Amino acid sequence: MTAPGKKTEPLIYEISVTGREGVKMPDCDVPETPLPDELIREEVGLPEVSELQAVRHFVNLSQLNHGIDTGFYPLGSCTMKYNPKVNEDVARLPGFAFLHPLTDDEGAQGALALMHQLQEWLAEISGFTAVSLQPAAGAQGELAGILMIRKYHLDRGDSERKTILIPNSAHGTNPATAAMAGMTVIELPSDDKGNVDLEALRAACAGDNAPTIAGMMITVPSTLGLFDSNILEINRIVHEAGGLMYMDGANMNSLLGIVKPGELGFDVMHYNLHKTFSTPHGGGGPGCGAVGVSETLKPFLPGPIVTIVEDTNDLEDAPLYGLHMPEKSIGRLKAFHGNFGMHNRAYAYIRTYGGDGLREVSRHAVLNANYVRVNLADDYHIPYNRYCAHEFVMEGHFEGVEGVHALDISKRLMDYGIHPPTNYFPLIVHEALLIEPTETEDKATLDEFISAMRKIAEEAKTNPELLTEAPHITPVKRLDEVRAAKQLVLCCRPEFLTAAAQAEG
Ligand SMILES: *Cc1c(COP(=O)(O)O)cnc(C)c1O
Repeated sequence: MTAPGKKTEPLIYEISVTGREGVKMPDCDVPETPLPDELIREEVGLPEVSELQAVRHFVNLSQLNHGIDTGFYPLGSCTMKYNPKVNEDVARLPGFAFLHPLTDDEGAQGALALMHQLQEWLAEISGFTAVSLQPAAGAQGELAGILMIRKYHLDRGDSERKTILIPNSAHGTNPATAAMAGMTVIELPSDDKGNVDLEALRAACAGDNAPTIAGMMITVPSTLGLFDSNILEINRIVHEAGGLMYMDGANMNSLLGIVKPGELGFDVMHYNLHKTFSTPHGGGGPGCGAVGVSETLKPFLPGPIVTIVEDTNDLEDAPLYGLHMPEKSIGRLKAFHGNFGMHNRAYAYIRTYGGDGLREVSRHAVLNANYVRVNLADDYHIPYNRYCAHEFVMEGHFEGVEGVHALDISKRLMDYGIHPPTNYFPLIVHEALLIEPTETEDKATLDEFISAMRKIAEEAKTNPELLTEAPHITPVKRLDEVRAAKQLVLCCRPEFLTAAAQAEG
């Protein structure tokens, strides 16, 4: 993987020449009418460039960001795997893309059939009874899950259960979700193997505490990339206390065709279709955090969900699909039917791979992570160095090398043309670097990554400035990330850039 070594392009305003035109308009063949005065703004000062210069400007801009289509992207917990382009073709089929969301059920049978099939497949994949495609993100799926758990208890006339147990290896959205839903969070420690500390869990569920436990939220595999060895016992303890079990299934890409969470005893789980099932994500775009539930929570699902209204029992004839609000539903989470474009893509993905293919997806996700882990174990400290799932966490610092941090390793990786891993998360690992190679990378790419990481470990000891002053080849160097978000400069006009630079002092 050679560093791209991008040269800095001149600003489009710098190459502007007065009077140069990008487009030749045909001669006007209708009577001309002057624009109203207030629409004519001489001072807009658009750059005057040729068409080719404009094309180069925008194509160069489009390549400044690192993306999965341009390079390796081992951003732990985010599953930045390749999104097959055929998914895009499917989502753009006019019958799907142009279907108006207010079309009546009769006129939308194809779309409803697709959603119904996707609900069924997701239920089958994880051993749940029913699925709702409403939630627009993983975090919203979590909120749906906790609201369902709360409503379940209230429906039984039990208003005392307001505590949600969350291990400290959970994804950060888990405690945020529980708090948003008005619950009290009790954090559980992890043991030295990275599993939930069973003694702490038993104590939290014992005696007078038991009637206050609404449930537990657990990320599986955890953000340490580990599958908890005591998962059945954990489910048993919480259920015995009367609580329900929520699984954060954003990382289902390590379990497909191997483990069904419903069979482990979980009552509710969210999927991240925009991770596991390869719908594109990032930048806060549309997603789908579908939720699957056991029989217990089925009546509480957010709706509407798609059901078969009339089954013809005739293989030749398609059944009639309709929308249905579950009887005790927590309600809607999203306008219309969720992010339907994501349903299309996930459908295409599952359909393309089939059951056996999906199992291979997970086997390779796990194999790739373990391959990288084992190959970096001599150069980096890996705190829970055991068989991992689809990702693993290591520490980004070196004994005897002061002043080199996880962030410096990440910035230096950019010089090798690789996107940094997730930094400083999970919080329970010092100088954490969370690495998720995903199954879509081949051995050659993994070897290049391993080699880059080894070189960086060497550089840290021999020439630490290479790390602490990195990145060296990117168009912008280290950003003040907070200020970059708060004082966003979206225009490249010289006077704006100058003003921004002055504001920075
Ligand atoms: C990504 C992720 C989430 C949140 O998903 P969003 O779609 O970003 O809201 C929750 N839990 C885990 C484990 C994740 O990896």
